[in-house]
Amino acid sequence: MPQGVDYTLAKRAAIAQWRAGRVPVTDICDAQPALIRAAEAMGEPLDEKCPVCEKRSLVAVSFTYGSSLRRYNGRICTPERFELLQASHDEFVCYVVEVCTACTWNHLARRFLAGRAHAS
Ligand SMILES: [Zn+2]
Repeated sequence: MPQGVDYTLAKRAAIAQWRAGRVPVTDICDAQPALIRAAEAMGEPLDEKCPVCEKRSLVAVSFTYGSSLRRYNGRICTPERFELLQASHDEFVCYVVEVCTACTWNHLARRFLAGRAHAS
């Protein structure tokens, strides 16, 4: 796992707040239609059921940021493109969002630096 920040604790805290009735489900299930479409078209299915609706498996959607990425800056990144960017750029940032396409729950899962400078 490359160097980065894992948001698992924040995710557990948000789910716990919802289970305790402290936040409405609409506060945590608020994925934009564009994110849901991206998850359906380009996401990576995870071996983990949605913690909110428990209907579908979560899907991971990755975004890449970095001025050197040019047209891929701020774009959704497939695993194949990630490999290409990783091999051809010194450094960029990758954000991974977990999405449920059934109830629109979404959460930032992790953020890490990628690129040749961080390849191990
Ligand atoms: Zn769900």
